[in-house]
Parts: sequence; structure tokens; C-alpha cells
Amino acid sequence: MQQTKYIFVTGGVTSSLGKGIIAASLAKLLQGKGYSVTIQKLDPYLNVDPGTLNPYEHGECYVTNDGAETDLDLGHYERFLDTPTSQANNVTTGRIYQSVIDKERKGEYLGKTVQIIPHITDEIKERIQILGKTGDYDIVITEIGGTIGDIESLPYIEAVRQILWELGHENALVIHLTLLPYLSTTGELKTKPTQHSVKMLMQSGVSPDVLVCRTEHHITDEIRNKLALFCNVEKPAIIESIDAETIYDVPGLMLQEGLDLVVLKKLKLAFEKESNLDKWNDFLYKFKNPKSEIKIGLIGKYVELHDAYKSIVESTIHAGAANEVKVNIEWIHSEDLEVKNIPTILKELDGVIVAPGFGSRGIEGKIKAVQYARENKIPFLGICLGMQMAVIEYARNVLGYIDANSTEMDESTKHPVIDIMDSQKEVTEKGGTMRLGSWKCKLKPNSIVSKAYGKKVIAERHRHRYEFNNKYLGDLEKAGMMATGINPKTKLVEIIEVINHPWFVGVQYHPEYKSTVLNPHPLFISFIRAALEQSLSNGD
Ligand code: GLN
Repeated sequence: MQQTKYIFVTGGVTSSLGKGIIAASLAKLLQGKGYSVTIQKLDPYLNVDPGTLNPYEHGECYVTNDGAETDLDLGHYERFLDTPTSQANNVTTGRIYQSVIDKERKGEYLGKTVQIIPHITDEIKERIQILGKTGDYDIVITEIGGTIGDIESLPYIEAVRQILWELGHENALVIHLTLLPYLSTTGELKTKPTQHSVKMLMQSGVSPDVLVCRTEHHITDEIRNKLALFCNVEKPAIIESIDAETIYDVPGLMLQEGLDLVVLKKLKLAFEKESNLDKWNDFLYKFKNPKSEIKIGLIGKYVELHDAYKSIVESTIHAGAANEVKVNIEWIHSEDLEVKNIPTILKELDGVIVAPGFGSRGIEGKIKAVQYARENKIPFLGICLGMQMAVIEYARNVLGYIDANSTEMDESTKHPVIDIMDSQKEVTEKGGTMRLGSWKCKLKPNSIVSKAYGKKVIAERHRHRYEFNNKYLGDLEKAGMMATGINPKTKLVEIIEVINHPWFVGVQYHPEYKSTVLNPHPLFISFIRAALEQSLSNGD
């Protein structure tokens, strides 16, 4: 078996340069040349996983098939590569320390003083190489979160230095992503912050093999020469990464700059093969040449931070391209719906998505949005909390159970149509204890969902503690809210639909985690198609 090759992506100058997108784009190009690639994210914070983080802190929490609550960059990896990730693809400093301290308590260090070097760095190295050792990948790309110079990143950089030394630069290399700021007064791109960032990296004993430079303007030959000379990088390995119209353009831009070639040559891997990106380019063409436009309202309580709903937005983009329609997202704050006039905010919409969430802030606004979509026959997709709100709305306004609620919001409600799962009642710790990961669901024939999926049994990813309360199933079904997806083992209701409505679906799971560029999610495709039909009937 060939040695797995390791690529490390570090960031310099500032945060938010898009290391995840560069890593995913490079992986896409390498995949296009026939290599099997996976991407891993190392996060330098002390939370064991991002599951306990408020979305305002860190954006969406992305969930994998095996139930890991992970950084949103893993969503990009899956969307670009169309291959699933797992717990091993996201490691935080908290998890590293937790496992070292657990080992210390078990006496596994045999009386040694436990230290950052070698114990923490060894644990990091092991976590990096775990994916390579599966034998499933030719190349593992590891993105190091944070910015060079951060105190928190130091053990990671030391671990990278050791791997480079152990495996040699034919088997492991470093890509440093940096920013070339543009001074508009003099009309110049400046290289000094990059030089300093590279120097800082070198002080830790790591010398970058490739520099990817984020820039608003094309970089000249002179700048390439300067960067090569002062940063100790060969000129072809100076890669321009100009601001793109969409993240999905980045693989093509990296191809033009030859990032894949530079990397493959350095790693002594065959590079001659033409890159096959046909399906990717088909998507891009459709995405950029829509035949019409629709407006989808995304109702949530974190709408100020769009990253909190990253996977939902990307799913609408994939499904929009599949339907050759441009999806314009109207960001609607659920709390606004509690105080403002509902029709003025919602009447122009061709479709409504009520987003996932936790806690009671804004839920009455979400319930009003569901009611408006249901009564006005606007295509509706409720995701997780959004599905739960649809059940509450129906119980209140159709069945007349006016205090119907979820016990998450009101423990003493007379009509707990959404209730905590039995298995959750004893749970006291918040981290990693929800119903997580992939679960099977059986679809009812002739339902909207069975037509959308074209399957009898599906598997979708979950992240919640509360559930549809089966005590109310009979009442709701009699009144026209049907359970069209059931967990075959536990009999839990996973999907509800409303009859006499063109497209009204609530799902207890998160379809958005499984939509990729090459495989847009069938439920989003069907929802966007229904919204498109709605917009045509509106005469838009
Ligand atoms: N708060 C709800 C629950 O825990 C919904 C969670 C979600 O939307 N992801 O069941």
C-alpha cells in the first residue's frame, strides 16, 4: 500500500480567509484526478465539540452520519467532495485534552509527568494520522483552525512540524493561506503582513511549501517574485486566490492557478491526468444561468448571522440549480413576526422554511409563519424545530388545543404535542447527548416525501431531544395532518404532511446536512419545484 500523503492548511494575517473552501477546492481537484481524499479540521478551542456553542459564536453545528457534532467547514467538505465525514474529521483542543487527561487518570502514562510536548502533541499526531491509517485515502488534508501566531495553535503547529520531519516533504506539505491587503490610496497590494506571517510560522520550525494569497486584485509577476524570495517558496507555488462570485468558483480558480499540479508534484504523485470536473461544471452552468427566480423566506432566530443556517442555504442553491431557478433567500427574524404585520412580511414569498433551533425565543413568530403558509397554501418546509412548530400550530388552530406546546417551551402545557423523548429524561449533561446522527425512516406510499425521494426507506441525520408525541397522532391525522415518515424501530414520527395543501412538509431530521453539489437533496429539489410552481401561478 502506498504511503498516505498529508497536506496541512494553515492561515495567516487574519481569520476568516476561507481555509475550509481552499481545502475543499484542492480536495475536489485531487478527487477529479482520481485520488481518494478526505479533509479534517482541527479546532483550537476548549469545547469538546461545537455542539454546546451558541450559533452566534461559531455558526451552524454540522452533524455527520455517525452523530458527531462538528464545525461547519465539514459541511463544505461533504458538499464539495460528495463523500461523508465522521467524528475523526473534526478534532478540538478540548477533545485532545480530554483524552490525554482520561489516559492520565487510567495510569496509562506509567508515572511520567504529562506535558504538552510530547503528550498533547502525540495525541494530535495520532488524530491526524488516524484517517490515513484507515487505508481509505490517498491524501488527507488537515485544516488547522485559527491564525498563525495564536497561542492556542502552537501545539498543532509543533505536531505538524514533527510529522513533516518524520514523513519528509515528499509525503507531507504545508499550504499557508494568507491575505494581500490592497491599499486603495496608492493602488498597491501589500506583501509585508504575509512575510511576517511566514516568518512566524518559520519560528515554529515550519516552512510553507505553497502560499495561497487571498486578494481583491490580480497579483503581478513582480509580487509573485517578491513573495517567493522573501517567503522561501518556489514561484509556481505562489497561488493567487482572487475574490470569487461564489465559493463554487474556487475549484476552477485553483485549477487555473495550478494548485493541484504544484501539490501533486511536490508529493511525487502522478499529475498528468486531465481533471474531470464535468458534473461540477454542469452544476455551475445551471447555477449561473437560471431561467427564473423565486423568493424563499428563511425564518429563524439567528438570521443576523447567515452562517448559522449554512447548510440550509447551500441546499437551496443545489436544488435551485437542479430546477434551473435562482433562489433568493429572504432572511426573516422570527421575533419580528411576533410584533409586525405578518402578511406584509410573508405575502411576496414563493416558499417558507422554518428553521431549526432551541429554546423559546421567537417561537410564537415561527408558529405564525407556519399558520400563514398553511392557510395561504404557500409551500412550506419545517426543519426539526420548524416541524415541531408546525405540529403545535395545527394542534392549536385546527384541533383547537389552544395551549398546545412543546415541553421544551412549556413544561406544564395541557397538550404536550411535542415532548421530551423517554431516553432523554434521565440525561443531565448537555454535550453530545441529543438524538444524533443517521436514523432510518419508512415513508408512506403516495405521500409528498415518497414521491420526492422515490424510495420506501431513507436515512437522515438528527439532532434534537424532543419528539412528536404519539398520543396525539390519531387526533392530528383525523384533522388532516398525516404522519408520512415513521422510524421503523421506535415508531417515532419523523415526517408530517398536511392534506389539501400543495406542499406542506415538516421533518424532524435535518435534510440539509446531506445535500451536495453532485447530489442535491431530493426533498429540497421537490420543495424548490413546488415554490417555482407557486411563483408561476402568482404570475411572477
Ligand atoms: N429544540 C428542539 C429539540 O431539541 C429542536 C432541535 C433542532 O431544531 N435541531 O428537539
